[in-house]
Amino acid sequence: MNVFMVYAHPEPTSFNGALKDRAFEILTGAGHNFEVTDLYAEDFNPRAGRHDFQETADPARFDYQVEQKQAAEDGTFSPELARDQERLFWCDLFILQFPLWWFGPPAILKGWIDRTLAFGHLYDHGHRYTTGLLKGRTGMVSVTTGGPEERFGGAESLYDSLDIYLKPLEFGCIQYLGMDLADRFVAWSAGRVGDDGRKAYLDQWTDQLLAVTSVESTDRAVA
Ligand code: FAD
Repeated sequence: MNVFMVYAHPEPTSFNGALKDRAFEILTGAGHNFEVTDLYAEDFNPRAGRHDFQETADPARFDYQVEQKQAAEDGTFSPELARDQERLFWCDLFILQFPLWWFGPPAILKGWIDRTLAFGHLYDHGHRYTTGLLKGRTGMVSVTTGGPEERFGGAESLYDSLDIYLKPLEFGCIQYLGMDLADRFVAWSAGRVGDDGRKAYLDQWTDQLLAVTSVESTDRAVA
């Protein structure tokens, strides 16, 4: 199986880094192919603009989706976008790995989504959800939080359910593109559960990765 992870954490020795490294170790050890885009290490530019394209469709006015559609037809996305777009078509399993920051992904990851998931290439008119261009693949979120689980949802809780905060990624990206949504992995309060708690999370993550990669993908759309 081909696995593509987009990883967003500025510190290599973070717990997110440990989850990324564990995924590499387990998946390559099981014979899978694993590609990772390490957004901070690559100094990924999250700002959309004309630099997304090697050629210009309309020099007079910048319409982002018009430029994306033209670049999709001409194959003129900037190299870092083209590489990750290819990885999205290449993969069977797509993983977003990040810490919850302000109830969402770090800005660098939102920028990757804006720039990489381009109109005319990753989605298009008539190609969303069940007719999505990445149909046949599976996508999942792996997230760490600062707050404990009981703070997210439930009648007395301070926050809404994590379902709400992850909906833009799970429903708005993964399913929108046509992928099946796998269960998310959550390391609640990753910084506060102690070494034993974190070891347990890494063991759970291992089990979840082995389970999700043991399922054969079917009905895979081609690029
Ligand atoms: P780290 O702090 O990097 O690591 C946690 C611990 O794990 C450290 O002690 C580290 O040494 C240890 N560790 C590293 N590797 C291993 C290993 N292999 N085995 C065992 N232990 C290891 N939280 C919320 O709940 N909601 C929010 O909206 C929110 N907003 C935030 C906004 C910002 C800008 C920031 C900076 C934080 C926010 N937080 C929020 C908290 C944030 O989600 C957590 O701090 C984060 O998820 C913890 O993950 P980490 O990878 O950064 O952990």
